[in-house]
Amino acid sequence: MTLLPQFTNEDPRHQAKKRPITSISSFPEQIEGVRGVYLHVPFCFHKCHYCDFYSIVDSRGRQEAFVERLTEELLIVSELLREPLRTIYVGGGTPTLLSPGLWETLLSTIQSTLIRGSRVEFSVEANPETVTPELATILVEGGVNRMSVGAQSFHPVHLKTLERWHDPDNVKRSVDILRQAGIRSLNLDLIFAIPGQSLEEALNDLDTALSLEPDHLSCYDLTYEPNTPMTERLRRGEFQPATQDLEADMYRGLCGRLESAGFIQYEISAWAQPDHQCQHNMLYWRNEQWWPVGPGASGHVAGFRWKNIPRLSVYLDSSGLCQVQDVEFLDEDGRIGEELMMGLRLREGIPLSRIDEMLKCGDRAEQRAAAFEKHIGNGLLARRESGLQLTEAGLLLADSILVDLI
Ligand code: SF4
Repeated sequence: MTLLPQFTNEDPRHQAKKRPITSISSFPEQIEGVRGVYLHVPFCFHKCHYCDFYSIVDSRGRQEAFVERLTEELLIVSELLREPLRTIYVGGGTPTLLSPGLWETLLSTIQSTLIRGSRVEFSVEANPETVTPELATILVEGGVNRMSVGAQSFHPVHLKTLERWHDPDNVKRSVDILRQAGIRSLNLDLIFAIPGQSLEEALNDLDTALSLEPDHLSCYDLTYEPNTPMTERLRRGEFQPATQDLEADMYRGLCGRLESAGFIQYEISAWAQPDHQCQHNMLYWRNEQWWPVGPGASGHVAGFRWKNIPRLSVYLDSSGLCQVQDVEFLDEDGRIGEELMMGLRLREGIPLSRIDEMLKCGDRAEQRAAAFEKHIGNGLLARRESGLQLTEAGLLLADSILVDLI
């Protein structure tokens, strides 16, 4: 058995970059600089219509096998990673759908393989319907110190539009349970620009979320991902999406209200009380390295990006590391493009010294310089002390600016 990922598809992008897939076998036996691990739990009790994350609804009889298989993979990953981790993030799917007993097994494995006595930010995503006092206590005793609860909206009609199954009252119930169990860092996720949602309703959702005193809020505009039921319903004309003007009003309204409530916006969609920024997401935005575990998880290590094959049956029928797909090894321009795309999401921006380097590297350096100047000139980008940043006007047009820059 090899310790290295087994790439099973011939991604044409590789051939275009003249890097054979097997080049990943140049990984050493131990890998340096990996600071985080993302674990994907691919089970949900219902599929929300906007969601394109890999998860399956019928998980009967497979959760135990999944945890067993994950244990095997974690043992291998722990041998590969040389340095202590800063972050562990368990997402999904709905990780809190696993039974308390399976969580005990998983946490004991994570403690012995990944944590090994070090201090890490250890986050778990939760659906409000699945948080119980027993599970919360097990999570906290197993080292989990940050929870992220998917609230999305407190208006039943908008949850229904999203086909999101939870009772809004259970958000408060789960927050209370998690706080009582000892969770000191708690995020709530909200979605805005839901079809039919008014500006007042979006702000009212935020007010309700704030009344629960979270330490962190992630507010995402609804995106229509390809191949989701929501996008199909949009295509069939079943509803009108929020207009761009309304979406911009909502975003500005949320930003203003969060600032008044003392939250610091540190990323386009993320606000935190001091010392509660999500360190795991910072790894993504700072283009650092993390290892993916479980089917459907994506990772970034040693210049490679890949996705673990999102099929539970393939995972359970195999051994060793999860098999992978969509492997990319970017050339210099590609790497700079990714760094810009992620780093400019951060309010601190990208250090000016790094921007100066980017202007000297890669085949697209000249176009990049011209795009920087254009957007600095039109007030969408600004050179500030902490780095090159999107301005407030630029935040609303982030996608089109980034397309220009990369
Ligand atoms: S609970 Fe989360 S992961 Fe599961 S379908 Fe809904 S949005 Fe997707």
